[in-house]
Amino acid sequence: MLPADATEELPGDRVTRAPAVARRQPRTARTESVRVVSDESWNPTTGCTKISPGCAHCWAERMARRLQGIGQPRYARGFAVTTHEDLLDKPLHWVKPRHVYVSFMGDLFHDDVPDEFIARVFDVMVRSPRHRFHLLTKRPERLARMGPRLPWPVNVWAGVTLEDAEHLWRADLLRETGAALRYLVLEPLLGPVDALDLREIGWVVLGGESGPGARPLKADWVRSVRDQCIAAGVPFYFKQWGGVRRKETGRELDGRLWTESPAEAGQLAFEDLGTTG
Ligand code: SF4
Repeated sequence: MLPADATEELPGDRVTRAPAVARRQPRTARTESVRVVSDESWNPTTGCTKISPGCAHCWAERMARRLQGIGQPRYARGFAVTTHEDLLDKPLHWVKPRHVYVSFMGDLFHDDVPDEFIARVFDVMVRSPRHRFHLLTKRPERLARMGPRLPWPVNVWAGVTLEDAEHLWRADLLRETGAALRYLVLEPLLGPVDALDLREIGWVVLGGESGPGARPLKADWVRSVRDQCIAAGVPFYFKQWGGVRRKETGRELDGRLWTESPAEAGQLAFEDLGTTG
């Protein structure tokens, strides 16, 4: 669920490499020694269905339909939820450590993905300690339900997407998981979120919507989240203002970049990412 404009040219899985970002140690992260050198996406599942207002202009759906249109066999079913058995072992073959974005062309915790398949995804992550896996979902109910039965190695981070104050409950469910680091992605942010509960949250990423039909992001909404992160000592990463032509709007806030990330994160490709799903 981390769609990247940079990958739109590619039917494959690669996410571009990014320059170094500022680092700050979150108070909630368990320490570890994974040294990550590049970013990758891994889509053992693809496809999803819309679940809340943030989904309205889903990048992954657009991309999946485009790939279906050019005959990419992986997307023969378009954006219908599909499991890809043959991709399950892929991370085991990557020799160099990577940030791995899991099922960003859908939502791993969608109801149509069998429990047993999710367990196998976790098994691969357990067997790939050199990589750091980023899970991101809008379905933390299922994540919380399955969480106690899943292994949570230190190389697996879990996040939820929040688009407005109506969905703050997703963060509460995220707190119930055993992930080494829990993070929030406020993208596309569609309204003010002035009462974020940042307990046990190790990172906040915020961005405006990008692409056709992009809805506006107000500076005061961004400032409010930034200030709450500063007060709580949580790294804050402002990814983009977004808009129809996001490259023109950039990502400066009040004259500077906000690119904080957990100390363990190392290099990330967020600079190159479009609207997160
Ligand atoms: S934005 Fe995320 S949750 Fe919504 S439809 Fe797209 S992939 Fe699914």
